[in-house]
Amino acid sequence: MVDAELIESVMLKGNLLELILEHIELKPNDMYFEGACPFCKTAQTSFVVNKFAGMFSCENCHKSGDLFKFVELFYDLDFLNAVAFLARKYELVPGPKA
Ligand SMILES: [Zn+2]
Repeated sequence: MVDAELIESVMLKGNLLELILEHIELKPNDMYFEGACPFCKTAQTSFVVNKFAGMFSCENCHKSGDLFKFVELFYDLDFLNAVAFLARKYELVPGPKA
C-alpha cells in the first residue's frame, strides 16, 4: 500500500545530501557535491549531488534520481521498502531507527 502522506512527510524531512554524506565522502563544488560513485565504484569523481534539487547522478554508470531512488539502489530495496526505511530513519513511524 502506498501511503502518499507518508511519502510527502519523508520528502519534507529527508535530505538527500545529508544521507549520502553519511556513507560516502563528497567535496563541495559550487552548488554541487562530487565524489566517487558508490554504485560503479570508479576512482573518478563521476558522482554529483545537486544539493538544491536533491538529486544525484553519475556520468559513468548513469544512475540518477532522488532520495528514494538513492535508498533503493544503495540498500537494494524496492520503492515501498525505501519509503519505510526513510520513515523509520526520520522517526515518522515507530520502529528501530535505521
Ligand atoms: Zn556510477
